[in-house]
Amino acid sequence: MFRRSFVAGAAASLVLPSLARAQGRLADDPFGLGIASGRPAADSVVLWTRLMARDRSERLAGAITVGWSVAEDETMQRIVRSGEALAEPRWAHSVHVDVGGLAANRPYWYRFTVGRAASAVGRTRTAPSANERLQELRFAFASCQQYEQGFYSSYSHMAADELDLVVHLGDYIYEKSWGRDLVRHHESRARITTLDQYRDRYALYKSDRDLQAAHAAHPWIVTWDDHEVDDDYTDDISPQEADRTRFLAQRAGAYQAFWEHMPLSNAMRPQGPSLTLYDRYRYGQLAEFHVLDDRQYRSHHACSATLKQGKPLEGCAERIEPGRTMLGATQEAWFNDGMARASTRWNIVAQQTLMAELDRGPGDRHVYWADGWDGYPAPRQRLLDAVGASPVKDTLVLGGDVHSFWAADLKQDFASPKSRTVATEFVGGSITSQGPANDRMQAVKAKNPHIRSVTSGVNGYAHVALDRKKGLVSFRTVRSVKEPDSPVQTLARFAVEAGRPGVQQA
Ligand code: FE
Ligand code: CA
Repeated sequence: MFRRSFVAGAAASLVLPSLARAQGRLADDPFGLGIASGRPAADSVVLWTRLMARDRSERLAGAITVGWSVAEDETMQRIVRSGEALAEPRWAHSVHVDVGGLAANRPYWYRFTVGRAASAVGRTRTAPSANERLQELRFAFASCQQYEQGFYSSYSHMAADELDLVVHLGDYIYEKSWGRDLVRHHESRARITTLDQYRDRYALYKSDRDLQAAHAAHPWIVTWDDHEVDDDYTDDISPQEADRTRFLAQRAGAYQAFWEHMPLSNAMRPQGPSLTLYDRYRYGQLAEFHVLDDRQYRSHHACSATLKQGKPLEGCAERIEPGRTMLGATQEAWFNDGMARASTRWNIVAQQTLMAELDRGPGDRHVYWADGWDGYPAPRQRLLDAVGASPVKDTLVLGGDVHSFWAADLKQDFASPKSRTVATEFVGGSITSQGPANDRMQAVKAKNPHIRSVTSGVNGYAHVALDRKKGLVSFRTVRSVKEPDSPVQTLARFAVEAGRPGVQQA
């Protein structure tokens, strides 16, 4: 039914001329990188795909018109929205469709077509309307998926989970090869720095069937960490490229490729080395996600730590300077405003890395990691003050980056274990990326009493079920990332009671 109306409609005349030029080079399955949806709102979602040439390294020429449709049913019989979008060479033939006019809090199915080829059918879901008394919200969050280090079995399990959405917290790609016992390889071992290289890297990662399955099954909200651009970069420099002009050119390419490969709206196209990614997503009266970008605007590492290859900071006075920023002034004001106006049952702060203080020093020494929140204690204190002052008393902080699973009480004052717990933090491990030694992390935990649990040496994601009374957080780990079809198990389960911030065993 859909196909007939597509061919019979005005679409055909628009499609054919542009297709004629590029058709010979389109892959038999032009949707080989999969399909995705994202940015769920009460009346809209964004649909994504990218057309591919037969050979992944080839580029298509000319603009190509792509048909899209959204239906109320899995068999695509009851189409509620449809149209065309242009896949342009300058955006790597990616397709981003902002679909509006949808009904709140219900599943939809979608499909793309080009010529005679049709994509698989994806499933998405709109958010509830702002005043809906939503009873339960279920979502997964994940981060850190170094392609060479393992298979993405976690994503096949996540695809099968019943979820409202997936939140990705960064390190979706890695710009360089590293790690032990690699099971597959990047196109090249060299560190990537150009737009075309980032495009090829996304295409490689997105060729993974399990990652495609998780995108096709749920709408995603995405933010980024450092490896989408360069390891441990801060604003306009990186340890690998201290020249600001050269680094900003690299960042512009990396941000463009990120936009091209994520279900982000057309309004979010990058402008040179800038892309505004932080945003809020509301789920009825139950929860609101505050999604942060802690890379693009942050102060450089204190005491030039990473530029000097000395990430642990000890006795660095610059570290604690009040003028330091993690979010930049604009995003920080936006965040504070969001906390002050918050009105759902739960605040959810989705961000990149472990927020709890982690003193790594042996004995009486105090040693902090330059690249995490410990390198930015003043902005962390301001953030937690804003969280503590919010009319919403229950805040979950979600993180990634550290390639291990953590549960922590975020204290008003980390130096004083008796101080108020203002929020509860969960860091959801890594899909594949190798983490620190587990026994070393247990020793570090012993020195930081607000850290309630840490497990390293395993891989997976986190599952969250939230209702008006409690949150249940499950750390889901696969047996081995070296197996392409690894079973999953629940490593640990924690509860957070509404009105009583802090980690509880469940
Ligand atoms: Fe990572
Ligand atoms: Ca990272």
